Amino acid sequence: MRGDVEVAIIGAGISGIAAAIKLREAGITDIVVLEKADTYGGTWRANTYPGCACDVPSRLYSYSFAPSTDWSRVYSTQDEILDYIQGVARDHHLDDVTRFGVEVTDAEWDGKVWQLTTTDHGTASPQTAGQAATSQLTARYLVSAAGPWNEPKIPDIPGLADFAGPVWHSARWNHDHDLTGERVAVIGTGASAVQFVPRIQPDVAALHLFQRTAHWVLPKLDHPVPDVEKWALRTVPLLARTLKRLEYSMMELVGLAFHRPKPLMHALQRLGKAYLRAAVPDRELRATLTPHYLIGCKRILFSNDYLQTLGRPNVTVHATGVAEIRGNTVIGTDGSHAEVDTIILGTGFHILDMPVADRVRGADGRTLAEHWASSPEAYLGTVVAGFPNAFIVLGPGLGTGHTSAFAIAESQVSYLVDAIRHSQDTGQPLAVRPEVQAEYVAGVQAALGGTAYNLSQCSSYYIDANGRNSFSWPWSTGELVRRVSHFHPADYQETPA
Ligand SMILES: Cc1cc2nc3c(=O)[nH]c(=O)nc-3n(C[C@H](O)[C@H](O)[C@H](O)COP(=O)(O)OP(=O)(O)OC[C@H]3O[C@@H](n4cnc5c(N)ncnc54)[C@H](O)[C@@H]3O)c2cc1C
Repeated sequence: MRGDVEVAIIGAGISGIAAAIKLREAGITDIVVLEKADTYGGTWRANTYPGCACDVPSRLYSYSFAPSTDWSRVYSTQDEILDYIQGVARDHHLDDVTRFGVEVTDAEWDGKVWQLTTTDHGTASPQTAGQAATSQLTARYLVSAAGPWNEPKIPDIPGLADFAGPVWHSARWNHDHDLTGERVAVIGTGASAVQFVPRIQPDVAALHLFQRTAHWVLPKLDHPVPDVEKWALRTVPLLARTLKRLEYSMMELVGLAFHRPKPLMHALQRLGKAYLRAAVPDRELRATLTPHYLIGCKRILFSNDYLQTLGRPNVTVHATGVAEIRGNTVIGTDGSHAEVDTIILGTGFHILDMPVADRVRGADGRTLAEHWASSPEAYLGTVVAGFPNAFIVLGPGLGTGHTSAFAIAESQVSYLVDAIRHSQDTGQPLAVRPEVQAEYVAGVQAALGGTAYNLSQCSSYYIDANGRNSFSWPWSTGELVRRVSHFHPADYQETPA
């Protein structure tokens, strides 16, 4: 049974772009990429906060099939990453198959094809303003590349909605508002806050940082890449490959520490403590910034100026969550007060409860979110029993604290290309066997028991609402690439119901 298109891809971030390129290279050209925003880039289009950059070296944080020797730093900044992603999309002529301003609001498996409902934000005319057009589309295969870091998490703080001044999330930075001379509250101390706090601190009159839990912070081995090095990398490809290999090995060493926490994690933790001592001379502040859980349990943060910034005279660290906002006062759960003009939320994303899971309905009419009941799982992080012919890129259980998302997405794309080709050859839909998925998930959960992610039971975004780690991959990146990129027909039902 054919649909209007063979493959519909939701999202034009790095994952959707990789899927579109590799499907076309495999001869599967009847595809469409549906993107609710107006351009490519996903994360790197949405996050424009000051200091936004990757925390995996750019040589690794890029497509294996489109290496660049032009990165201006070891860890590139958002604008450069966005340029790179958009360049790759354009070089591969993805405009031919991409529809911008089109949001998938529903996708249902009708037994033969996926029935998609979309809202076209681009077609609203002045007469129909506010009521974007709705369309239907059918696709034989569905690839959800909607991104776990796509939907900002806005905390449910009493009084936040009534705060008189500007409030914004780091992923929706308000560039029209000048923070100079203001009193600013930053709520949250995760991977985005460590990047923007050092950038805004010199301009503001007072910065109140609300830190619920201290994070381990390690220095970032970052530096500008001199022109001579770029020239050498361009001229001697072996050099670029060797450097990439070295960076990969370095990151894998960190990964090994996550997987064999004792004694490797303790060594890394000693490094974290030494760095904290060097960066923060004040004893009291240092005590506030010292984490009380095994390093790796939460995402490790990398920064060369965050801890140092917190010691500046205009910064106050409130070691507490926020209880409420009254008028223009932010009140901590410990009773501390801060009067502020602007609030910036560095409160993360709906990672394990991504909105697309509420919009994709499987063979029994129930959504992914209903199937998962707050504990997302997928065979190889990619396919879910009861959702035939559908794939999730950067799905549950593939997260690590050190691997480039490009490596994960490319492995999954390789898998889904082989799977779709197989299904086209046999004429059978692809329905993963429930017992294969159950055995796989049980193996992952058993292996996670011994990792740093689970050992010290800290609160982290790896842990879902049921208390299970539904985010992390317990083995090495090499193992991830090996397992996730290989499609095995035997894992699938021969004649799906
Ligand atoms: C600030 C920040 C820094 C990061 N740094 C790193 C890093 O250093 N290393 C790393 O490995 N990872 C990092 N990440 C994680 C990052 O999200 C991934 O690396 C990667 O960019 C995800 O790409 P994606 O294409 O899967 O998803 P996204 O980039 O989120 O793209 C998803 C796309 O889908 C679209 N979409 C969603 N829902 C719909 C819908 N219903 N209909 C139509 N379109 C839809 C969105 O508009 C978006 O464009 C970072 C994340 C953030 C937020």
